[in-house]
Amino acid sequence: MTIAERLDAIQQQIANCAEQHGRDKHSITLLAVSKQQSIERIQDAYAAGQRCFGENYLQEALPKIAALAHLPISWHFIGHIQANKTRKIAENFSVVETVSSLKIAERLNKQRPSHLPPLTICLEINLYQEPDKSGIAPADALLLAKACSGLSRLTLRGLMSIPPIASNLTEARQHFQQLYALWQSLQQAGLNLDMLSMGMSGDFEAAIAEGSTEVRIGTGLFGSRS
Ligand SMILES: *Cc1c(COP(=O)(O)O)cnc(C)c1O
Repeated sequence: MTIAERLDAIQQQIANCAEQHGRDKHSITLLAVSKQQSIERIQDAYAAGQRCFGENYLQEALPKIAALAHLPISWHFIGHIQANKTRKIAENFSVVETVSSLKIAERLNKQRPSHLPPLTICLEINLYQEPDKSGIAPADALLLAKACSGLSRLTLRGLMSIPPIASNLTEARQHFQQLYALWQSLQQAGLNLDMLSMGMSGDFEAAIAEGSTEVRIGTGLFGSRS
């Protein structure tokens, strides 16, 4: 299958899944995760209509962003953020989904160029504090969210998470359900959030069932990574 055909198939799956759960398909954004994919393959996806792309590694992303600067692409940073990389991230991305400390948020806020709109951010949640993953514990989300709301060059819009790989659909839905509940509790506390980034190639249907507003798809769109 070509990338255009795969993109079509995924969009159809998203639409079917949304309908099945009484949701509007337009309330779910597809983020194409282009890590380890070439500029040509990103261009193919763009030509087929895809506009949002996610990258995990800054050094890998910068040449792609530069090569495709003439296209109106929304680049999302979805990798672990080291403090010494924040300036380039603030300069080159539209959305940073993986903020997990006030220190990183403050650096992005300070380094966001004044000619660009405020940087959209999400907080990365580590549901069970798995040591091999980034992200804050759910219990710490409200405090960090409130602190980030006070930073004028950032717009906090939601939460992002990579829950543990589940062994079945019920278990997958339970993880996503907890994230949705956390997202709602922050809204009830007065935060204006409209992004809930959860679900990848293997589990996006479970995530949509539980209220995801953005699914991040890599292999399902581009095929396996080299
Ligand atoms: C790689 C990656 C994805 C995409 O994973 P696939 O299983 O290839 O769809 C999504 N989110 C993050 C944060 C990733 O690192």
